[in-house]
Amino acid sequence: MKLKFLALLLAVGALFLSGCGYIPQPWCDLEFSGEFSSAVTESTSDIPYTSEDDSSAEEKPPNGTGTLTVHFIDVGQGDSTFIELPNGETMLIDAGEPLEGDNVVTYILTQGYNTVDHVIATHPHDDHIGGMSDVLNNFNVKHFYFTKAEGSSKVYENMLAAIGENGITADHVTAGDVIVNEDGLSAEVVAPKTLECDNLNDTSVVVKLTYKDNTFLFTGDAEKPEEDGIWTNIKCDVLKVGHHGSSTSTNANFLKKTEPTYAVISAGLFNSYGHPTEKTLNALAQRGIKTFRTDKQGTIILNSDGTEITANKDPVEYGDDIGEETSSAENPGGYVLNTKSKKIHYPDCPSVKTIKDKNMELTDDFNGAVSRGYTPCGSCKPTGGV
Ligand SMILES: [Zn+2]
Ligand SMILES: [Zn+2]
Repeated sequence: MKLKFLALLLAVGALFLSGCGYIPQPWCDLEFSGEFSSAVTESTSDIPYTSEDDSSAEEKPPNGTGTLTVHFIDVGQGDSTFIELPNGETMLIDAGEPLEGDNVVTYILTQGYNTVDHVIATHPHDDHIGGMSDVLNNFNVKHFYFTKAEGSSKVYENMLAAIGENGITADHVTAGDVIVNEDGLSAEVVAPKTLECDNLNDTSVVVKLTYKDNTFLFTGDAEKPEEDGIWTNIKCDVLKVGHHGSSTSTNANFLKKTEPTYAVISAGLFNSYGHPTEKTLNALAQRGIKTFRTDKQGTIILNSDGTEITANKDPVEYGDDIGEETSSAENPGGYVLNTKSKKIHYPDCPSVKTIKDKNMELTDDFNGAVSRGYTPCGSCKPTGGV
């Protein structure tokens, strides 16, 4: 097993050294399974190598307009952020669940790009790297960055295989690494400092993107321990809220350190985790932070000219949201069915959070559900009249 992994290291290292004049950092002491390492070792033998000359001949899209555009793509319960940098380069942070891969690929193609200069996988959870192999297989990816912590899922294996098969330069990054550093424009990694492998969320690559006077902070799923470990200046204008607005992220100290004007939450409508939580929404509202939500507003696009930030939508009204979460009289419509217990719930019923994804069905048709043998939940008491 170790030998196979060593062979993989040598094969990939040789590829990088010969192909791009790039010297890889050590790939850490991850313990890969024998099955996985052999699969990747085989795949490296026929890597279609793109030479330096070929890649420089690639036409750059006509960006470089001096505008920074950040697209928080609506990928349901997950994260995917596509960034058009003001220097004409592009960046993608995460790629949503596996089924969202096509969506992410189509979105970027629709923006007019077939090259993504910098692709970052914050941490190896499926709702962040699920679509990554689709991205790596469909775009000319110049450089891939990821956390050193190892995933165990099939999609993680697919992601590493796609890196090998496409001969993509890949680097593990930790706090202090710099991805972009130009006059007035920088993308630096501010976490993780150490790898807390008990919780993969706390290994999230956190990126601080600065364009002149404006700063964006992308946190992946960083929770309180990782947030607390960041001591560099992370004051920002826009905070991509950690872990889909979970109560385990965005702690009071972190908000004090970041002081954002805007927050963006990427989450799926009626997700089974109860994200974003009222605790996080409250914390943002109390500080007067204008908040955007992909679950309620779809894809959020923010533009920066280096001094001012504009958005394609208005921030959500927190008061309206409270109404939805606490009063079934203002329920937006729709019901959540538990296909196992055959109960009908309003989406805001606390027991909805305990329904497993595979047992959950959404419907607008109350009477239809009743005729299929479903009965109203005794605590949220849904009726057909809403
Ligand atoms: Zn995660
Ligand atoms: Zn996540």
